[in-house]
Amino acid sequence: MALVRAEGLHKDYQVGELAVPAIRGVDFVIEPGSFVCFVGPSGSGKTTLLNMIGCLDRPTAGHLSVLDTQVSDLDRRPAAAFRGEHIGFVFQDFNLIPVLTAYENVEYPLIMVQKWPAGERRARVRSLLAAAGIEEQADKRPDQLSGGQKQRVAVARALVTNPKLVLADEPTANLDHKTAYRIIDLMRRLRDEFGTSFVFSTHDPKIMGEAEVTFELEDGLLHQKEEEASP
Ligand code: ADP
Ligand code: MG
Repeated sequence: MALVRAEGLHKDYQVGELAVPAIRGVDFVIEPGSFVCFVGPSGSGKTTLLNMIGCLDRPTAGHLSVLDTQVSDLDRRPAAAFRGEHIGFVFQDFNLIPVLTAYENVEYPLIMVQKWPAGERRARVRSLLAAAGIEEQADKRPDQLSGGQKQRVAVARALVTNPKLVLADEPTANLDHKTAYRIIDLMRRLRDEFGTSFVFSTHDPKIMGEAEVTFELEDGLLHQKEEEASP
């Protein structure tokens, strides 16, 4: 079973009278447990594509299935439920809640999205903080953390509900190169440890070389650059 399958996928944005094409007919398959990158310049359609895979937006035409569910057909509420159960998100600007500590940020989805009993919740949050290498920062708020540490918290938060898939839209764009590589490394290691698939985007050709499967987006169209067998 493919984790994600897109067939003839199109997305137009309606701007006044005009339909502006952002994704113009793409096909791809993402296998379970893979480490995948969508690379392309600004405006090429990376965010649009990840938003559709993440059930945050719906295609204009074509088929998109995630975990054998036709997510292109889901209405808002079932889409939100599907997202909460199966998908984690990491963002370019970290999107941590400023008044919560690192620990509380990671705990948040377990309270809001999945109702976990308190004891199990603590153990789960602690294990994710450890896996992401930020146990020491558990009690700090985002403004007391470096960019790299914030993104580690965000990666731990994305994984805490044990999703099948984590989507990371330009997770390294606000980080220096060395920190960027460390975050990519962390995601790959967590993929190995938990079997979670990671799909990330970047406009940085150096970072794209770190993925096992790379799709190149250009003007809403896709070219698959290279492929190695998934582990
Ligand atoms: P990327 O993430 O690669 O920078 P996007 O997916 O954000 O690309 O954008 C792809 C194209 O769709 C661009 O031409 C952009 O201007 C357009 N676009 C994105 N979001 C909207 C929107 N909400 N309304 C209209 N056009 C949009
Ligand atoms: Mg974008």
